[in-house]
Amino acid sequence: MYDNYNRSINYLRVSVTDKCNLRCTYCMPEEGITLLPHEEILTFDEIVEFIKVSVSLGVNKVRITGGEPLVRRGIVDLVRMIAEIPGIDDLSMTTNAILMSQFAKPLWDAGLRRINVSLDTIDPEKFKQITRGGDINAVIQGLNEAKIVGFNPIKINCVINKSSNEPDAIAVKNFATENGFEVRFIPKMNLEKGIFGQVDGGEGGNCSSCNRLRLTANGMVKPCLFSDIGYSVRELGPKEAILKAIGVKPESGSTNQNGTFYNIGG
Ligand code: SAM
Repeated sequence: MYDNYNRSINYLRVSVTDKCNLRCTYCMPEEGITLLPHEEILTFDEIVEFIKVSVSLGVNKVRITGGEPLVRRGIVDLVRMIAEIPGIDDLSMTTNAILMSQFAKPLWDAGLRRINVSLDTIDPEKFKQITRGGDINAVIQGLNEAKIVGFNPIKINCVINKSSNEPDAIAVKNFATENGFEVRFIPKMNLEKGIFGQVDGGEGGNCSSCNRLRLTANGMVKPCLFSDIGYSVRELGPKEAILKAIGVKPESGSTNQNGTFYNIGG
């Protein structure tokens, strides 16, 4: 699948829930979050059908995200259903890993092999501040369990303020090196203001080579994180929603006034 700028679109990010068990300051407001009504959230069958159609159109790389994917009830079953779809060469999940110590083995058994874990500091107090109450020990236990089970590579997503040389970023890098994890530094972005940057160590944020399509938890296909455009899978069906989204994929991101990281999936 090629878009109007001759970019090959082969990477689908699927947000499976808008719920999260953390409240990271740069991602979610502390209060006043309106969660999607249950009936608006795509069912497992709808998600799987959408992915199958995407694969038939050229997608071969799928990432499960959220919200926090591990709080979606039945996530292991959903991962198994997705892992069984022929044609996916790379299936991964982005998670805060708070629940990973209990989920690592079942996820592995379900067919997941690769995870990205969000971690911006290794200081327990600072982690608590950034996540508004999170326990870093749960993340570290989750990372350890994932490593024991065999996930490889395990990548850490570290959101930075300005530079990967700031003290928290250096500490995360050292922690990762000591434990055999890779790190990607993500500049703090702002959807409404259109502030975004390239991921250091990853592919995100580089519009000229963007290969992504996004599915939100309520079934909107989005051509770009930094765009208000979305097409409803339930209204149009997967194929038409995908083709329409690809047809308007912008050359580069602008702003997103009606979306949030926690419902589009970061
Ligand atoms: N809950 C999961 C997690 O924490 O990894 C998955 C969803 S989260 C929205 C996906 C990624 O988006 C995380 O790595 C998070 O750090 C990143 N993210 C959220 N808000 C961001 C922002 N304002 N700027 C840059 N990255 C952001």
